[in-house]
Amino acid sequence: LLTSLLIKPGSIELREVNIPCPQRGQALVKVKAALTCGTDIKAYLRGHPMIPMPGMFGHEFSGVVEAVGAGVKNFSPGDELMAVHSAPCLKCGYCKKKLYNLCEKIMDTKALGAFSEYILLPSHIVKINAYIKPGNLSFEEAAFLEPLSCVVHGVEQLGIKGGDSALVIGAGPIGLLHLLLLNVKGASVSVADINEGRLRVAKRLGADFILSPDSIKTGCAFDYVFECTGLPAVWELAVNYLKRGGTLALFGGCKRGTKATYDTYRIHYDEITLKGVFHYTPDDVKKAYLLLRDRKINVSGLISGRYPLKDIGKAFERLIEGKGIKYAIIP
Ligand SMILES: [Zn+2]
Ligand SMILES: [Zn+2]
Repeated sequence: LLTSLLIKPGSIELREVNIPCPQRGQALVKVKAALTCGTDIKAYLRGHPMIPMPGMFGHEFSGVVEAVGAGVKNFSPGDELMAVHSAPCLKCGYCKKKLYNLCEKIMDTKALGAFSEYILLPSHIVKINAYIKPGNLSFEEAAFLEPLSCVVHGVEQLGIKGGDSALVIGAGPIGLLHLLLLNVKGASVSVADINEGRLRVAKRLGADFILSPDSIKTGCAFDYVFECTGLPAVWELAVNYLKRGGTLALFGGCKRGTKATYDTYRIHYDEITLKGVFHYTPDDVKKAYLLLRDRKINVSGLISGRYPLKDIGKAFERLIEGKGIKYAIIP
């Protein structure tokens, strides 16, 4: 099978490797669509702690089951499948407390390598975090299950009601998925970014207001702010845009060791909540699956183009130039 390997930052190679044979509980999936993601871009630019190099990468995908190992009951060859690339162990201390997204082993047996003709899914993912793709969803749309699960995780725990005001900072794929989900909640959503092309996409996807860095003032006040840039300077600025009692959801992961500092008066007397957001639980994946299946959220507007596997480097070059939101890689 043909797979793409991230050799070192900036360098991707295509290689022929043997098709793995699914062992007990595993499923071999023929990839029909895989999506580029901010994590992949970080890895391509400077390496990423969760993506070993050289190694296979790509973790947002959907496809057709090619073969299953012994004991797999919920899928058979020929089934169209959508899945995420990790699942909790269900045994560690965090899993026992139902903090499945913080499972100590969540990244131990993840399925990396969606930028390939085939991907092998470990047994716990097949069992816990994989679904039959509904016929009304394209493979590209179904591949949004993973990023949407992350966004569901952050948004669902906040208790957002119709009429609440929200600011999403960063109109990349994750910021735009926040916008789509907040629209479903009936919130009034503003989106801020430095990239005008991305703001136009936000407007098209239903943002009530779009804001450039100049038009966003400390006088703006929202019930919720969603930080989707992963820049410490933005983490710091974001608390200025909250109403008293507001919540800042910190979605964008920054480089390890970076710091953000806050005015203690603001946090204490205005009772501001700073909420870290990471990954997803099986329940979040289920909710994301239902949002896609029931067409509550239409993600097709986030796909900026398609490339065959051999041109995967071109997709990354375009994203680095700031062009496009997400590209579909079609093996
Ligand atoms: Zn991703
Ligand atoms: Zn666990």
